[in-house]
Amino acid sequence: MNATTITLGTIGVLISLVCWAVFFSGVWRIIASIRLGQRDGTRNGPFVPRLSQMIVEFLGHTKMVKFRTVGWAHWLVMIGFILGSLLWFEAYGETFDPHFHWPLFGATHVWLFIAELLGWGTVIGILVLMVIRQLNHPRVPGRMSRFSGSVFSAAYFVEWVVLIEGLGMIMVKAGKISSGVEEPPIWTSFGTHFVAKALPASLLMVSIFALIKLLSGMIWLFMVGRKVTWGVAWHRLSAFFNIYFKRELGSKRALGAAKPMMSGGKVLEMEDADPDVDAFGAGKIEDFSWKGWLDFTTCTECGRCQSQCPAWNTGKPLSPKLLIMSLRDHGFAKAPYLLAGGKTDMAGDEVGLVGADGKPDEAALAKIPAAARAEAGRKMVGESTEMVDGGELAPVIDYETLWSCTSCGACVEQCPVDIEHVDHIIDMRRYQVLIESEFPSELAGLFKNLENKGNPWGQNSKDRINWVNEVEFEVPVYGRDADSFDGYEYLFWVGCAGAYEDRAKKTTKAVAELLNVAAVDYLVLGEGETCTGDSARRAGNEFLFQQLAMQNIETFNDLFDGVPQERRKIVVTCAHCFNALSNEYPQVGGHYEVVHHTQLLNKLVRDKRLIPVAPVEGSEQITYHDPCFLGRHNQVYDAPRELIGASAATLTEMPRHGERSLCCGAGGARMWMEENIGKRINIERVDEALDTLGSGATTQKIATGCPFCRVMLTDGVTARQESGQGEGVEVVDVAQLILDGVRRGGAVPTKELKKQPAKPAAEPAAAAATAVVETAPAATPAEEAPKAAAPKPAVKGLGMAGAAKAPGGAKAPGKGLGMAGGAKAPGAKGLGLAGGAKAPGAKKAAPAAQAPAEAPATEAPAAETPAKPAGLSVKAKGLGMAGGAKAPGAKKPGAPKTAAPAAEPAPEATPATEAPAAEAPAKPAGLSVKAKGLGMAGGAKAPGARRSAPAAPKSEPAPEAPAAETPAAEAPEAPTTATPQADDKPALSVKPKGLGMRGGAKPPGKR
Ligand code: SF4
Ligand code: SF4
Repeated sequence: MNATTITLGTIGVLISLVCWAVFFSGVWRIIASIRLGQRDGTRNGPFVPRLSQMIVEFLGHTKMVKFRTVGWAHWLVMIGFILGSLLWFEAYGETFDPHFHWPLFGATHVWLFIAELLGWGTVIGILVLMVIRQLNHPRVPGRMSRFSGSVFSAAYFVEWVVLIEGLGMIMVKAGKISSGVEEPPIWTSFGTHFVAKALPASLLMVSIFALIKLLSGMIWLFMVGRKVTWGVAWHRLSAFFNIYFKRELGSKRALGAAKPMMSGGKVLEMEDADPDVDAFGAGKIEDFSWKGWLDFTTCTECGRCQSQCPAWNTGKPLSPKLLIMSLRDHGFAKAPYLLAGGKTDMAGDEVGLVGADGKPDEAALAKIPAAARAEAGRKMVGESTEMVDGGELAPVIDYETLWSCTSCGACVEQCPVDIEHVDHIIDMRRYQVLIESEFPSELAGLFKNLENKGNPWGQNSKDRINWVNEVEFEVPVYGRDADSFDGYEYLFWVGCAGAYEDRAKKTTKAVAELLNVAAVDYLVLGEGETCTGDSARRAGNEFLFQQLAMQNIETFNDLFDGVPQERRKIVVTCAHCFNALSNEYPQVGGHYEVVHHTQLLNKLVRDKRLIPVAPVEGSEQITYHDPCFLGRHNQVYDAPRELIGASAATLTEMPRHGERSLCCGAGGARMWMEENIGKRINIERVDEALDTLGSGATTQKIATGCPFCRVMLTDGVTARQESGQGEGVEVVDVAQLILDGVRRGGAVPTKELKKQPAKPAAEPAAAAATAVVETAPAATPAEEAPKAAAPKPAVKGLGMAGAAKAPGGAKAPGKGLGMAGGAKAPGAKGLGLAGGAKAPGAKKAAPAAQAPAEAPATEAPAAETPAKPAGLSVKAKGLGMAGGAKAPGAKKPGAPKTAAPAAEPAPEATPATEAPAAEAPAKPAGLSVKAKGLGMAGGAKAPGARRSAPAAPKSEPAPEAPAAETPAAEAPEAPTTATPQADDKPALSVKPKGLGMRGGAKPPGKR
């Protein structure tokens, strides 16, 4: 130690004081901002399992290793950061005194060896990561890069600091060796030993190296302290907490069940939710929970989620990474306003910083930075182009961005820091649907059909058992052939698609036949089934989901009355029903043993109760599409593949399979929406499947295990076959493959109809199976003949009344799609769709003659085209609205996404009359607006109802949204010059209050 080194050390300490202060101010800002989120007490414990899960995840790098090279390189850098911090702090002493080392262990050979590994590991690791970033740089080609949209300046800064820190570890140690301060054996310094040979013997040099090492860290502390949005830097600290507090304990991620709708730490239920006090989803950044804020803070901008996102990869404006980044940037920009006590109501009026007279406290507001006040005025979700053109600030999230999500879960699956994208997207949708009434017009029909008819197509419940009459064996129907579950092993949950949709019905019949062959005692609910509510929930209509779930749970309670929990078994063919029944119904009080049909069939094959026989001639080549809600959301990957193996077909995997499977495009209620931007996801998937199948096999099939996927893929294959590709390729369910194999073996027995009074107690399964196989009759189901006669998948399926999107839309001409308003297209086969939904998989904007299901949108009477989802009844209490005032949730006039037919001003102008949900088209299913008390001034609109849009008469066709061109997620920077125009906000005098229940409806969770 001498005067020079003391000076160096003092400089280091003084700079450190400033840098640490800035850093901790950043930490404080982050903590304060996270605390702005809603309470969520579900994440705290149990402590030990959560801690151990976090340690396993970061030490094992269980997520990062999915990208192999990145995995080990990042692991080296991470360990270099954690353990290397000891070497970094050591630099404080080394700057003053080159001989300094940590007492006790600092001079041990073991520590010197560890220091050697840390130094070289950090340098090698960060160099690899730097190269990978450059190889994946978005300069070519933009969308293919997972780093597209990431903030490169922050990433470069972090990379160079890490590199300097790593080099600093090496150089300080090498300097000590060259100066004779340390003389370690070569095995402890296998690299630095040679570096030392190139250095002079200088103690001052050691202090200078130590100061450089120290200052590189100081610069990092200073910069990240000032840049709280630099997730690529902050994740080094926040990732540990984010992993610890993730929603699902164990190895699971936030997949499977959707997060319940929560406000203030409590789960919202229909009967006691109050929009005056509760946050219905997320309409403002402060509506997200603190975990949401922690998610936003932790995003490293690595883009793994983006690289897997089907929406992003097909040209949609949605990137899960950019969405999270946008929320983060907005949150931290708005935080000063919120921390100062600012708060707005649903109409956007200031209610936080107000004076005694209730008016905004301008003096207090003036103290808030203008940028934060401007940010507070930004809408969370909206039409970017329309808003900017109208002089408003761009929304945080573009409308098209929000509705592009298929809930496939690929983002959550891939995220190395356990960010829960889908939860946040669903929360934003909830607000849009339940409060703002802003959602794709096709969903209006879906909501209405679900509420009124209990299925997306608006079909009659009695038709749910039509398929039963189309098979040549008996299928016991609860309530008709059986009045209890006694003697039955499984409830076969058919699902809406399985009951109504022609292609899905093939799966239903195949499974029923196989269960029959295997002598599995099952029954179906028939008319008693109602949609599980999966689409409603993922479309944001939480209360409609609860309503449907309650209805089904009531039916289950009746069916399973007296049956022990472990015997309440349900087998499902639909991956969405499977997910809802097994993962989501427990949230509302329904607990069952649910298996997917591929799991049950696989067990039956293993147990030799089903014996498929290999094809006699030719080769059968199969590729398998993993349904997201079976695979990623529920980790069922093996059973379908084993079944394909059992059928002796040759399985060729697509490049994207298993946990990286590409969505078919139907999830997240996208099944019912038009897909107008970019390439259709089902076409993208089919192209991949056709490339995989190639040519050469006699029979080529795309197998799957979900009716949604089947419909989407069939439409995609049909579209490609129309252009001469994929000739002869067929889309089938895995069950059909097994059924074909079983039929080849000749065992197609039928069972007698179980009459309840004569039904004996459950028989031993094995004995029953043997008996059935032995008595196999020659009966062949009628389905076989048409299958042979129609190798090309004909799109038939269902039509949807109203503006609903009907399945099979891509093959509409002449077949399959019904017309709105009861009108049926000439030559149409199949059924009509009630409401305003759109055919899943349908081509966009096809001419009416080719896509009749889409035409009804302009023909449906307004009363049948609800602009508000059903299911939630809100009573407007007592107050009138000033003329022209926009009620909460009202849609702005002329908003392009509003379906033209919905704009029927008459019923909205007379809110004093209580409209039944079915006839109150302006409210979401489950939410019916009841005006109570006073009328509304002329032209005013009922709360929640879409504005009647005098400037956009109903005859005007709904224009397509141009939002894709400037998605908010891609332009997160908010204009800072504009300030919220509080005065422009209409006086809000009517507020929806409380949630009503439909007569006789049972609250969720109540038995
Ligand atoms: S759930 Fe799927 S579609 Fe939605 S953001 Fe994530 S990856 Fe994209
Ligand atoms: S959300 Fe997760 S996967 Fe996506 S960029 Fe951020 S850290 Fe990476």
